[in-house]
Amino acid sequence: MTFKGNYGQGAGRRAQSSGGSGRAPGRSMGPGALALPMMLGGGGIGSVLLVLLLLFLFGGFGGGGGQQAGQGQGQYQSQGGYNLEHCDAPNAANEYDDCRAEATARSVDDVWSHLLPDQAGLEYRQAGIHIFKGDVNTGCGFATSDTGPFYCPRDETAYLDVSFFNQLRSLGGSAGPLAQEYATAHEMGHHIQHIEGTLGLSDYKNPGEDSAAVAIELQADCYAGLWAHYAEQQQILEPISEEQLKEAIQTAQAIGDDNIQRRSGGQVDPDAWTHGSSEQRGKAFMAGYTTGRMAACDTLNRGVYQQ
Ligand SMILES: [Zn+2]
Repeated sequence: MTFKGNYGQGAGRRAQSSGGSGRAPGRSMGPGALALPMMLGGGGIGSVLLVLLLLFLFGGFGGGGGQQAGQGQGQYQSQGGYNLEHCDAPNAANEYDDCRAEATARSVDDVWSHLLPDQAGLEYRQAGIHIFKGDVNTGCGFATSDTGPFYCPRDETAYLDVSFFNQLRSLGGSAGPLAQEYATAHEMGHHIQHIEGTLGLSDYKNPGEDSAAVAIELQADCYAGLWAHYAEQQQILEPISEEQLKEAIQTAQAIGDDNIQRRSGGQVDPDAWTHGSSEQRGKAFMAGYTTGRMAACDTLNRGVYQQ
């Protein structure tokens, strides 16, 4: 049990009132915008490219998220049917993975709405969270669960299928509560970068140890650590146990590029990294968690944060 009291209660009502699953995104694209992958035509290539270019992934093993472009059409309706009503139950945020993700997104909003003005002098805009099953149409195109959790800057929404937490286990990660919350808070970290105007620096097509892509991903890990720091301090979360912290670090390490390369039977090749090594990812999360300072997450060396 990580969330304090009944933090998650009311999610179902909010979901209903926003007319879909989870909260409404900051800017709604509407189904019309989803025609773009179709226009690129040529089967799956257009939508795969679109997914690679515009989605910001949690792990390094996505990229296969695009399917045949035509399959996305007509499924826009079904994704809205995802139901979070069970999240109204007492303690649901601690009992159900989807309610936990929803509650995490909300507490990330709580934390950043103060943190971003205080430490970066920027106004916060609420992010959307969209919990889905199987596949989903987004402002960035069509994606499936295989992509893993991701953030789409075009509709300012994080997308997550909670079945991903089982994939994490198979990579040597944990599906413990803080590990799951880290995944959600990482995607919301990309939303912060989007507001900062730096997210566009990331380019998965130009990978490498010293790439902007890696710097952006490590910063998102660090931002997830910042969230954990303040969620604990503000008593949104119960005090984080050693065990939970270990699980979160273990998970950050599991999705390090070197671990994924090793597990997929390949050589460790730093020139192909997009998210950073296991060691870097674990350290980045801890840098945010222990300091609570955006300045400690300044992987882009911008020097613009309050010291
Ligand atoms: Zn990411």
